[in-house]
Amino acid sequence: MSHLMNTYARLPVAFTRGEGVWLFDETGKRYLDALSGIAVSTLGHNHPRLVRAVAEQAASVLHTSNLYRIPLQEALSDRLAAISGMDEVFFCNSGCEANEAAIKLARFYGHKKGVEQPAIIVMENAFHGRTLATLSATGNRKAQAGFEPLVSGFVRVPYKDIGAVRAVGEHNHNVVAVMMEMIQGEGGINIADEQFQRDLRAECDKRGWLLICDEVQCGLGRTGRWFGFQQAGVKPDVMTLAKGLGSGVPIGACLTAGRAAGLFGPGNHGSTFGGNPLACAAALTTLATIEDDALMANALKVGEAIRSGLAEALKDLPGVVDIRGRGLMIGIELDRPCGALVTQALEAGLLINVTAERVIRLLPALVFSEQDAQTLVTLLAPLVRNHLAQ
Ligand code: PLP
Repeated sequence: MSHLMNTYARLPVAFTRGEGVWLFDETGKRYLDALSGIAVSTLGHNHPRLVRAVAEQAASVLHTSNLYRIPLQEALSDRLAAISGMDEVFFCNSGCEANEAAIKLARFYGHKKGVEQPAIIVMENAFHGRTLATLSATGNRKAQAGFEPLVSGFVRVPYKDIGAVRAVGEHNHNVVAVMMEMIQGEGGINIADEQFQRDLRAECDKRGWLLICDEVQCGLGRTGRWFGFQQAGVKPDVMTLAKGLGSGVPIGACLTAGRAAGLFGPGNHGSTFGGNPLACAAALTTLATIEDDALMANALKVGEAIRSGLAEALKDLPGVVDIRGRGLMIGIELDRPCGALVTQALEAGLLINVTAERVIRLLPALVFSEQDAQTLVTLLAPLVRNHLAQ
């Protein structure tokens, strides 16, 4: 027993050490980590370059305050702008905070345009976080239950349905923005096709709406590009990041471009910890390592190896509805609930996740190798086969 609040259905394991794509529990048993803390440990565990950067920064200065200039924050904003084409960056500590900033920004934008009750179009099955505003934007009734009244100002449409977006635009003149994940993570690894992305960009331009891309899960090299939106060449006005940015050190970011840039001034938003020297050192090192070690190309190659390996190993099973994803963001959809697989995999020494009840979700570190992919397939395929045989 402990005094922890009961907010997580935790698995009965505690990891004491990590090495690359492996985690070790208190007994020394090792586990292949195909989840990386839900898309957080971009560089795997105990990466020497990250360990060194974090240790050196800790020995220099951990935190100062946003009351003062933070040169590492400035350097990180320049780096993020260079790889995304965005103009400005606000730093915070998590995905929900990044999205809160984006929501506030969209409302601010609306008010500047004379819209007194600004509304944001959001998608079914979206996940944007658990603060009140981001929970209200999230398309999951179960997560929202018991927390009403939710924050108003969100209009929900089916994912990838441009007709529904256009219909809302025709009738609701309070809309100022559309917020979406280019690949839904919690929603079950659902990919917005390139035509939808382009149509949505055109609709936002036509109506003067901001396009807000939540890249918290799919961003930062995981899909083989820096960001999910780069697949279709559709640039957002606002982008949010967190999870993999610090490879385990908490940091989030809200980026703006074009008409969304320059809106906030001093006093409009803030965060005590946001972008402190320690977090920025971790993020700069994460980005540099992704680039120097060609980890995006690796994500594409190894992701393909995982998908094709699983497709081959599971090809005779009609219960496998789909194996989809991009790079190292992979979903295996079954025709039935499969939450039990998480515990079975744990027993077999493999860390996976199940989301949307029937989708096995794999989000390995970007340092996963083709040999790791093979090990993953060898461990996972028999469990899926067994599950579907019951
Ligand atoms: N947005 C997306 C797409 C996410 O997947 C998540 C978390 O899973 C969040 C936002 C919320 O991030 P955080 O848990 O860091 O607040």
